[in-house]
Amino acid sequence: MSKFLKRSALGAQVPHEKRTSGMETVKMPLPTKIVLSMSQHIGAPATPAVAKGDQVYVGTVVGKSGGFVSSDIHSGVSGIVDSITTITGSNGAKQTAVVIIPDGAQTVDPAVAPPQVTDLKSFQDAVRASGLVGLGGAGFPAAVKLAPKNLDEIDTLIINGAECEPYITSDNRCLLEDTQFILDGIQAVMKYLEIPRCIIGIEGNKPEAIAKMRGAVPAGVEVKELPCRYPQGAEKVLIENCTGREVPFPGLPSDVGVIVMNVTSVAFVGKYLATGMPLTTKRLTVDGDIVKEPKNVEVVIGTPVRELIDFCGGFTDEPGKVLYGGPMMGTCIADLDQPVLKNNNAVLAFSRKASQTPKMSNCIHCGRCANACPLGLSAKEIVQAYNNGDVDLLVQLNADLCMSCGTCSFVCPAKRPLAPSIALAKIMMKNGGKK
Ligand code: SF4
Ligand code: SF4
Repeated sequence: MSKFLKRSALGAQVPHEKRTSGMETVKMPLPTKIVLSMSQHIGAPATPAVAKGDQVYVGTVVGKSGGFVSSDIHSGVSGIVDSITTITGSNGAKQTAVVIIPDGAQTVDPAVAPPQVTDLKSFQDAVRASGLVGLGGAGFPAAVKLAPKNLDEIDTLIINGAECEPYITSDNRCLLEDTQFILDGIQAVMKYLEIPRCIIGIEGNKPEAIAKMRGAVPAGVEVKELPCRYPQGAEKVLIENCTGREVPFPGLPSDVGVIVMNVTSVAFVGKYLATGMPLTTKRLTVDGDIVKEPKNVEVVIGTPVRELIDFCGGFTDEPGKVLYGGPMMGTCIADLDQPVLKNNNAVLAFSRKASQTPKMSNCIHCGRCANACPLGLSAKEIVQAYNNGDVDLLVQLNADLCMSCGTCSFVCPAKRPLAPSIALAKIMMKNGGKK
């Protein structure tokens, strides 16, 4: 079989629903407590670096990185550590968490100071110390991403400002409100990693952001308007549409000379280099048909979702579904006491009516799922192989490449839950055929 799949990159025309795009970010007052999960990133969990009763400050390290692929966790409030506890994450896994009660003073940790950055090593060390992980949703530690093994082959930095999920507008607000930090962050990454070219990819439904960035970028940085087709922000799709290069399977962006960063991540780099304040707050879109006052909110990481929703006026009806992230790829929040995490870009809440699972009917073999898949996968065949327990066929069909974007489910006229079934198929492959 070919090492490369031919991607059709068709995607789907999803509704935009970006009614908060014109809403300036508002700062939420301090919550009554923050709950800092030690597992807010891909890789090893952090280890608590504080104990019950300890005084902490804004910017204090409360969780130490658990390995190379991991990240420090910092407090966004000054206050007292109330407990080290166990919480259940949105993926159902148990996680250690540090609970802090704010004292309201917001005293900054004396260790917080702009980092001394003079070369690649000190830049990478600074990014590691900042606690930055991929803020577009991936949660991959940024210090690892910015240290590719083939750095001398990287010639393009792509900034992901596509924001293709319906409802979410926090990246749009970042482009409009943090323009200078974005440019500073881009300049630093290009300088220290010696990358000659940068492309900022933005979906065409953000004309204000495109115009603002085009008016601000220096030579060597291009702003590219992307078609409004979901999932334009998926890394492989973005790379193909920005550079014409196809990431091989299996493979990474660095294999085609590219590093991709989310626009919020690179803005944070710019801000961190100027202030030294680690990652302690996050901009989120709060929206959905039952949110009374939809907003873009800057919130302290660890804020319970319940308090965030209260800040947005509460619910107008019983929730059927509350999500971290967008309706296409978001994960359900089972308990409103769960905290805001570093990589959350939205909290969306929908009524029972809007959350109803559509009635499924038999497959009519129309092929729309295969046509729409940005990775050229055949969702129908993968699901059939899963139902038959045929792991060999799942391997042949490249089922493990599925990125759970949900496009196949969205376009299916029979309303078949293809993406969730493929997620189960991937688990079965890992378990050697056991369902
Ligand atoms: S969920 Fe997987 S199979 Fe379905 S469209 Fe997305 S990548 Fe393709
Ligand atoms: S889109 Fe739905 S109905 Fe059409 S082939 Fe795929 S699974 Fe079958």
